Amino acid sequence: MSLSLTGKTYVVMGVANKRSIAWGIARSLHNAGARLIFTYAGERIESSVRDLANSLEAEGTLVLPCDVTSDEAIATCFAEIKEAVGTIHGLAHCIAFAKTDELKGEFVNTSRDGFLLAQNISSYSLTAVAKEARGLMAEGGSIVTLTYLGGERAIPNYNVMGVAKASLDASVRYLAADLGKDGIRVNSISAGPIRTLSAKAIGEFNSILNEIEERAPLRRTTTPEEVGDTALFLFSELSRGITGENIHVDSGYHIL
Ligand code: NAD
Repeated sequence: MSLSLTGKTYVVMGVANKRSIAWGIARSLHNAGARLIFTYAGERIESSVRDLANSLEAEGTLVLPCDVTSDEAIATCFAEIKEAVGTIHGLAHCIAFAKTDELKGEFVNTSRDGFLLAQNISSYSLTAVAKEARGLMAEGGSIVTLTYLGGERAIPNYNVMGVAKASLDASVRYLAADLGKDGIRVNSISAGPIRTLSAKAIGEFNSILNEIEERAPLRRTTTPEEVGDTALFLFSELSRGITGENIHVDSGYHIL
């Protein structure tokens, strides 16, 4: 049993730039020999994703558009993946979005629009892509999504995204229950706070990072590489008995 993923193909959704957690996951998968397919949303970040994908200098890497708010875009994207590779072995879902002004202050002020937007992009999208990915996982597979402690506890400023993460966490369990019979495992990683584009939107993010450095058992913040290596484990045969699970990669902060 090893961590080599040579000969296997993984879809990585949600690279925006080199700070993205999805990019940490992509590098761990690439180092293990996996073939990668990147998806992105919006022309604005296309060139950044293409540059990063090219930097791997790996044969067969694909970069495709996939805005998860559109069922049609998701269907088109997975049809193109099927046409190109036939079978995939895993999918990393690293996607979230909420209105910036709802990631500070009181949760009670969340708008209906903002609530539904966060649920749509940050939670429902996992189910939408799992439905399409299922058809391409003829040899079984592993789906990994990224969640945060704010879905388990009320964390200041995380607000509407915390509720979306709670819904995402429940989706992991329901999807694991459905897809297990097809040999498809579904798990999440609860990452500690990492300074990324999305994280910038969260009010007082620096004080959250300081708190981790001062109080987390490991006394340091989480890196994308640590999350990437745990994802690699969840994508590999080493984790073959694990599904419907959430692994905290947060320097142990969640036990406090
Ligand atoms: P990021 O900004 O690098 O990645 C978020 C990605 O979501 C971007 O690539 C963005 O293009 C994509 N996205 C947004 N709307 C989309 C849409 N409609 N269709 C397709 N893609 C869309 O930030 P990140 O921190 O790497 O976030 C990745 C995941 O990790 C998110 O689910 C986030 O909640 C989660 N997470 C982050 C932290 C942290 O502290 N950074 C901690 C725990 C969990």
